[in-house]
Amino acid sequence: MIDLMDLHTHTIACGHAYNTLYEMARSASEKGLALFGSSDHAPSMPGSCHKYYFTNFRVIPRVLYSMPLLMGAELNILDFDGQVDLPPDILKKMDYAIASIHIQCIAKGTAADYTRAYVKAMENPLIHIIGHPDDSRLPADYDTLAAAARETHTLLEINNSSLRPGSIRIGAKDNCAKLLERCAHYGTSIIMGSDAHCEADAGNHRYAIELLEELQFPEELIVNTSLDRAASFLPCLAARLDDPLLRAREADARRVPSHSAAADEPSVSGGM
Ligand SMILES: [Zn+2]
Ligand SMILES: [Zn+2]
Repeated sequence: MIDLMDLHTHTIACGHAYNTLYEMARSASEKGLALFGSSDHAPSMPGSCHKYYFTNFRVIPRVLYSMPLLMGAELNILDFDGQVDLPPDILKKMDYAIASIHIQCIAKGTAADYTRAYVKAMENPLIHIIGHPDDSRLPADYDTLAAAARETHTLLEINNSSLRPGSIRIGAKDNCAKLLERCAHYGTSIIMGSDAHCEADAGNHRYAIELLEELQFPEELIVNTSLDRAASFLPCLAARLDDPLLRAREADARRVPSHSAAADEPSVSGGM
């Protein structure tokens, strides 16, 4: 599978990841990705950085080690109305936003509650991706999610760390399979994300690719396969599509079938 990008990654700024932004970008560059995104946990995650971290992205060069870079956040969905933990004025200045439910940051609810929380977050035009909606501890109605994502033009993530053996997200493979079946039914696009918390894992979509290939999920619904496909969901990328470096890296990445064979597969499991 062509796999050009990883937009779900963390740095030492979030308090429970182990490499700097520069180390992560260098690793992604060495692995031949065409586009790399940094999406640290927004402030409600215990131990993560202050909101000021997300207001100062203008100082970051959007190319590091020849790696085209996007600066975003992984927001916490805080309640069943889909409220998130950075305000619109900050979100508008970032390149993109993932919104996820983390068990530490939301009250205990029912599948109907979590489904509503996801759908309300999708209705927020400043949220581009729903992160890891795949954990049986946070059940959701996958038919409703797939339909709402299509309707709101939001990407659903297939999270590699959730699928790694030993992940603390329960039932992720079965839940992703159910979600993908509904996505194929509705024509809903998905994105693979590594959820890397260390540089060895940057760009690692090994288990996500395995599952997508096993299910013969339509490649045209996987935005990692094409910058143009991804750009239709990410205005910040659409604005950069004429960048010769981006296109040159895309052409190079297309010569390599995938980044799934991670020789240095880290033993960390998906957690937060
Ligand atoms: Zn984390
Ligand atoms: Zn997360």
